[in-house]
Amino acid sequence: MSEELHRLTAHEARDLLSRREVSAIELTRAILDQIAAVDDRIGAYLTVANETALAQAAEEDEAIANGEGGLLAGVPISVKDNMCTKGVHTTCGSLMLENFVPPYDGHVIGRLRDAGAVLIGKTNMDEFAMGSSVEHSAFKPAHNPWALDRVPGGSSGGSAAAIAADEAIIALGSDTGGSIRQPASLCGVVGFKPTYGRVSRYGLVAFGSSLDQIGPITKDVRDCALLLNVISGHDERDATSVPVDVPDFTEALTGDIKGLRVGVVDEYLPDNVDADVRAVAEAAIGELEGLGATVERGLSLPNTKYSLACYYIIAPSEASANLARYDGVKYGYSYQDGDSMWENMDGTRQHGFGDEVKRRIMLGTYALSTGYYDAYYLKALKVRTLLRREFDEAFERFDVLAGLVSPTPAFLLGEKTDNPFEMYLADIFTLPANIAGIPGMSLPAGFVERDGALLPVGLQLLAKPFDEASILRAAHAYEQATNWHNERAPM
Ligand code: GLN
Repeated sequence: MSEELHRLTAHEARDLLSRREVSAIELTRAILDQIAAVDDRIGAYLTVANETALAQAAEEDEAIANGEGGLLAGVPISVKDNMCTKGVHTTCGSLMLENFVPPYDGHVIGRLRDAGAVLIGKTNMDEFAMGSSVEHSAFKPAHNPWALDRVPGGSSGGSAAAIAADEAIIALGSDTGGSIRQPASLCGVVGFKPTYGRVSRYGLVAFGSSLDQIGPITKDVRDCALLLNVISGHDERDATSVPVDVPDFTEALTGDIKGLRVGVVDEYLPDNVDADVRAVAEAAIGELEGLGATVERGLSLPNTKYSLACYYIIAPSEASANLARYDGVKYGYSYQDGDSMWENMDGTRQHGFGDEVKRRIMLGTYALSTGYYDAYYLKALKVRTLLRREFDEAFERFDVLAGLVSPTPAFLLGEKTDNPFEMYLADIFTLPANIAGIPGMSLPAGFVERDGALLPVGLQLLAKPFDEASILRAAHAYEQATNWHNERAPM
């Protein structure tokens, strides 16, 4: 048993922990052992908090013994390195924050601590969450557990790879344009971007503030619902956090989807994507139909074609404003060899930021500059409204929209690094959910074979704002009827 502890889901672990058949210390050790055994090949972690994790586990064992354990008492979790963790490095994958140790916990971290989750470490990511492969991490690339010569996706690729390689029981990522769903799809795990406003971003390093959301990356749908229960809810410290009721998301896991109205959107399952990948999504949609969902195919959301352009104006514009704070004065890396304050500030940004981040800052500064603001930023906001309306209309007729998460399975390391536009295309199906603020999930739906390796493919499910439950309901029923989530990477 003990050698298999790292393979547990959170709900399985909770059962064993509450029956005292396993201790939080044993479970934490099992995860730390797995990290020690495989992470030099995967590169999922930037920081492993060995000592504090074991100390926290000991506290949780005591709480459990006293009958005071929270919802995630004793469950090891790993968190993307853009969420502030008190006393634990938070680098955001950047040299700019290489030595930053936050003096406070972000909102979700506080919630996790209250629920008793044990913080194992901070996961690798593209610098400032800009990227789709973790190749823009300032420290090291990460590798896909299903094929080590391939990327895990990004920017939350470290979290997705950690779950796929059993280096964490559950994890958190952030999603500005697909950064939870795309790596989840490429690593064969569950990834969920909640509705904009569902989860507070207090203590999340800001990228595109009108797009960023935090969400779960897990081994199965039940864990996803559990983790959503813990992190969701209003928080005054984030002005965009919406004061709406949070349902118990596990109640959506009924196993019954009879009559659920599923729309299949042509733009998310186009004819010109990889045929094998398309076939996986088709089969998954057929399965939902077989389970009693009412499936309508051939739906079109024509404004989808503007999402890439719209995103690459809005996200860099907001990023250029958010990243202005890294001036070498207040915190983070500071270049000191210049002859003036201005030279030091230039040096800080020149050496502290990587190429992709600089590219985004330039794109955003350009789009926001006098004379161009109306032509680019304002225009993008108008397109955003059109996209939202199109989704609103679709959700009058459908509970869930289905399509692909990613047009391809995991690509080779280095395959897209020379061509930023190619990299941007990796998120073509995930960007619209961020632009419209709606919830979206990547659900393991099968595999395709490439160069002798089996590579996971995810099905994307979308729903109207604050209706995460419909997605979870569909995903759970599908998961019960299939076995993809139980396949493990051949480590
Ligand atoms: N890959 C997209 C980008 O580079 C999305 C990133 C994200 O969701 N954080 O901007």
